[in-house]
Amino acid sequence: MAVQCEEYYPEIKGSFSFEIEKVLFSRQSSYQRVEVVQSKGLGRVLLIDGLVMLTERDEFVYHEMIAHTPLFVHPDPRRVLIIGGGDGGTVRECLKHQSVEKVTLVDIDELVTRASLEYLPSVAGAVLSDRVECRFEDGVKFVKGTTERYDIVIIDSTDPISVGEGLFTHAFYQDCFKVLSDDGILVNQSESPAWQAEEVAKISAKLRRVFPRLYFYQAHIPTYPSGHWLFGFASKQYHPMRDFREAYYRQFAHPLRYYNDGLHRGAFALPNFVKELIDAQ
Ligand code: SAM
Repeated sequence: MAVQCEEYYPEIKGSFSFEIEKVLFSRQSSYQRVEVVQSKGLGRVLLIDGLVMLTERDEFVYHEMIAHTPLFVHPDPRRVLIIGGGDGGTVRECLKHQSVEKVTLVDIDELVTRASLEYLPSVAGAVLSDRVECRFEDGVKFVKGTTERYDIVIIDSTDPISVGEGLFTHAFYQDCFKVLSDDGILVNQSESPAWQAEEVAKISAKLRRVFPRLYFYQAHIPTYPSGHWLFGFASKQYHPMRDFREAYYRQFAHPLRYYNDGLHRGAFALPNFVKELIDAQ
């Protein structure tokens, strides 16, 4: 019988499973279990505590959408802070923008980056760039203590459980606001509106208390719960559509597989049930 990897979704009392060929890496760090498996149909898959973080088959959707959406809005993004994201996929996309001088990656768990560098080099390889500084520490403590300022903060976190919980609090969002430059933008992964509705409503209510402008946009990520995923776009000044840099987009040299100008705009058009969730206080 084929070996299955199964992720259980409590809200629907059902699960997503896929067949695997072999476990390439499996180790418990001080924080979580980190695994990379070779699947039969999704390429290699990174799992943390048994939950899918990325698959080689569709990681481009998440990483392009979390990185390019703010980077095509801010007029001159030079300093980017990524909290979480130790697999390096978000770093890879940020470095495609020449204006970005430095990316600071703060992941609590060095094991995620080490495993990704060894088994997912097409995702993680970018962390070795000399434009990237990797720090392995708690993102909550980092934003509380740093005196640096960033044009873009990207919260590429695990779910709001275990070590990831602190990355979904009002106090953390306040500290993120503080580390952003006067025209900074924060983007965060905001879970699934279809199957994690309560979490989405909480994220929205907390961000709204901190940021003067808050928008959400969506993407279709087949291997995440329900496939319907949301990102928060919290900004001090810029509007995600009015300030979209059309001319810069047209001369952008890197081919992208998911993100494009039409999709940038369309992603902010939300179904009514999602609007209700994010507007609920
Ligand atoms: N794309 C993924 C998703 O939405 O499922 C997230 C991927 S990335 C692997 C998430 C990272 O967040 C993990 O490497 C984890 O170690 C990191 N992380 C969790 N809590 C953290 C914290 N408090 N500070 C910094 N990084 C944290």
